Amino acid sequence: MEGGKLIVFSAPSGSGKTTIVRHLLEQPELNLAFSVSATSRPRRIREKHGEHYYFMSINEFKQHIKKEDFLEWEEVYRDNFYGTLKTEVERLWAEGKNVIFDIDVAGGLRIKKKFPEVTLAVFVKPPSVDELKIRLKKRSTESDEKINMRIAKASVELATAPQFDKIIKNYDLDTALNEAHQLVADFVGAKKPDSK
Ligand code: 5GP
Repeated sequence: MEGGKLIVFSAPSGSGKTTIVRHLLEQPELNLAFSVSATSRPRRIREKHGEHYYFMSINEFKQHIKKEDFLEWEEVYRDNFYGTLKTEVERLWAEGKNVIFDIDVAGGLRIKKKFPEVTLAVFVKPPSVDELKIRLKKRSTESDEKINMRIAKASVELATAPQFDKIIKNYDLDTALNEAHQLVADFVGAKKPDSK
């Protein structure tokens, strides 16, 4: 497998990494395409198959594991499997794109390990675990039980931050978006439109 660059954004759930990744995808000079992951978790109301995720049953997911179709995969939460299909990255590289990932910390570090030369791994840090809880509740896409599961995992995930190439503190969204844009522009060798 070879092609463009890989940009990984990892963070505890609710840190704002998805917002940052979406913002970066809107910057044409970065030439980014989103790596659509496979998952066995239920589809949320506004999510589309093939756009947000490739939704599949646990059995289907396990078949792909068996066939070694994944670049990386994790059981991020119990019975909720998530993974990056090799075919997804191959497809986007074939289109001449740099690939951007919104994946959990273990998956992010695995991609970095597999492709150290072409990967920028960024950790997005929330202001605090309490703030995470508030954001997840506001989002109201998960039950209280699931929110608690995500919060419990957050402390473990926060401890992995030093293993990433860069850490972005998402205390103020505009500042974080700007910083992320500059970082990725430097990495892919693009010029950020408003930079001097
Ligand atoms: P959500 O259920 O909120 O969409 O995602 C839960 C977590 O799984 C998030 O941290 C998300 O980044 C992560 N995730 C999504 N896709 C992948 C993937 O392909 N691999 C791994 N390891 N994690 C993923």
